Amino acid sequence: MRDPILKYSKSSGFYVDAKKDFFSSNQALLEKAQSQNASYASGPARTNCKICGHSLPNETDFKSHGVEYVFCRDCNHLNGRYDDTKEFIEELYVSEDGEDYSKNYIDDNYVSRAEKIYIPKVEFLKESLPRTPTGILDVGCGGGYFVYAAQKMGYPSLGVDVSKTMTQFGNQQIRNLMGCEPLHCVDETELYEAIRYTAFDVVSAIGVIEHLREPQRFFEAVKNSRASFLYYSVPMFSLSALLENSLPNVFPRQLSGGHTHLFTEKSLVKMHELIGAQSIAEWRFGTDVMDLYRALNVGIQENCGSDYAHTQISEGMAGLIDDLQSVFDRNHFCSEIHVLVSCSDSRFK
Ligand SMILES: [Zn+2]
Repeated sequence: MRDPILKYSKSSGFYVDAKKDFFSSNQALLEKAQSQNASYASGPARTNCKICGHSLPNETDFKSHGVEYVFCRDCNHLNGRYDDTKEFIEELYVSEDGEDYSKNYIDDNYVSRAEKIYIPKVEFLKESLPRTPTGILDVGCGGGYFVYAAQKMGYPSLGVDVSKTMTQFGNQQIRNLMGCEPLHCVDETELYEAIRYTAFDVVSAIGVIEHLREPQRFFEAVKNSRASFLYYSVPMFSLSALLENSLPNVFPRQLSGGHTHLFTEKSLVKMHELIGAQSIAEWRFGTDVMDLYRALNVGIQENCGSDYAHTQISEGMAGLIDDLQSVFDRNHFCSEIHVLVSCSDSRFK
């Protein structure tokens, strides 16, 4: 088996534009996260690890924003103490046809978001795949940014998602831009069937696995699918989660709402084992230092900070963000990872 190709970091320039709300609406986002966490924490206890299924220890490792967390002692995955019930998931993603969830993601500037954030993801896939794929099935496609970016780069691509609002919005955008409607609204079971029976040889799941109620169904579907490759990104336990735990007044981007558990390097290996997959390429880039920068700004804001004080933070810190982040990325302790895996040696033709 060859060692995976390793890639690190990405300029954070895209982040400030894309997530301005994180800076300007801290209080509202914090309150929403607290209410989603309260709803999550009212659910039944999670007794087994979300990834490997091993029994979780009785003691809690830490508590953040009203939710208790525990590391699986078998695969080291960080688990929230409660189950993601169907009701909780529906409340987050499907209620009112997903309108509430989609507010975070619907942008006035569809093309610019696709180009800044999703084209680089497709480029990494392109440079890492050992052959030209027949096409890409994007699972949990949301508004179809990745599908659009893949099509722009010449890959036939379809998306499936449980949100009617998001797929309708994406289809409307892509129809205007490219004259097709490649996104399909499906229920949970159809989502796994789409993977199982896809004719394409790449399945992508960008920021999706962590939101699944039963990830084992996803692992099984990928394992039994004719697709040869899985391309995914997931949130990781890193500095960001630790900062959130120490700073209760800052909106916890990494571990709240739909993120009830986080991957670690060890739980990724376990997941690959369960899928029967080998890593081909890994791209680590986090937003940990951007989260720190945001926390410092919120702190100043809360302590009567003037515009002049904010300028002091940006003059001192803004130019350091990418350099500092690259230290975390290269040491494999960053908030996000993109991975391309081959799903089976026998199908790795
Ligand atoms: Zn585990």
